[in-house]
Amino acid sequence: MRLVVDLDLCQGHAVCQDEAPALFQVPKTGQVEILRADPGTDLEAARLAVRYCPTQALSLVDDSPEERR
Ligand code: SF4
Repeated sequence: MRLVVDLDLCQGHAVCQDEAPALFQVPKTGQVEILRADPGTDLEAARLAVRYCPTQALSLVDDSPEERR
């Protein structure tokens, strides 16, 4: 799985950072930076961040077959 952000939608609410601080960093004024696109053991926290992002800017995609090996 891989985290993807649509920066056209991100408004810097930082809900994602609250849900998964190991995966996201959001500056006081600005947009999210994904610290680790592959959530690994933080997958559940990543799912919560995707669910609760108020602008639905985040998604989890599974398009990298080599990561499943
Ligand atoms: S919660 Fe959504 S809108 Fe807020 S910083 Fe994270 S990605 Fe951006």
